[in-house]
Amino acid sequence: MLGLLLGSALVSSGLAAQVRHGGLVVSYVDARDAEQLAAVFRAWDAAAGDLRRLGLPVPARVRIEAALNAAGFAQRTGEAAGIAAITRGATISTQRLGALAARGTLPVTIRHEAFHTAQPPGLPRWLAEGLARTFSGEGSRDPAGVTGLETLSESALSAALAGRQPARLTQAYVEATRRAAAKLRVGGWKGVFRNAGK
Ligand SMILES: [Zn+2]
Repeated sequence: MLGLLLGSALVSSGLAAQVRHGGLVVSYVDARDAEQLAAVFRAWDAAAGDLRRLGLPVPARVRIEAALNAAGFAQRTGEAAGIAAITRGATISTQRLGALAARGTLPVTIRHEAFHTAQPPGLPRWLAEGLARTFSGEGSRDPAGVTGLETLSESALSAALAGRQPARLTQAYVEATRRAAAKLRVGGWKGVFRNAGK
């Protein structure tokens, strides 16, 4: 509670508020994001437990930095304003928490990015994204039918994800998730991690 009160004071002075939850520090700029902190902590704790059960080491310290708005997110990260979040090392930059909650994507976004903080080194981008979307549960909501990217090479699929061309970004995420799921069906999580980077 002290953190939240301190947070309001900081927001009124134009700085980000910061709240600690174990090894997780969440900062936010819009004071209303405080209403989402409980959901963030719940999603984080569940994800961290699941990651450890998969043998993935969650960093001892992780930061979630929620932007004031989509423009602020784009400015801070250099990513498109439509991206929900991006993880670099142990720092997760997200859209305003309230905006993610309104879209119904706050818990899956936290889970997705939690995976990226703990993923084994050396994963190709397409596999990292596919596994993150499987781990988060986003993959189970993907539409059926062809993606149109079935014949794309793995490196071209990674490039499509990195290039963030809006026209085919959604399909690229779906395609990456299907290919990751196929690998998981064969080797399970630990099998995929064992073979990653080889
Ligand atoms: Zn991702």
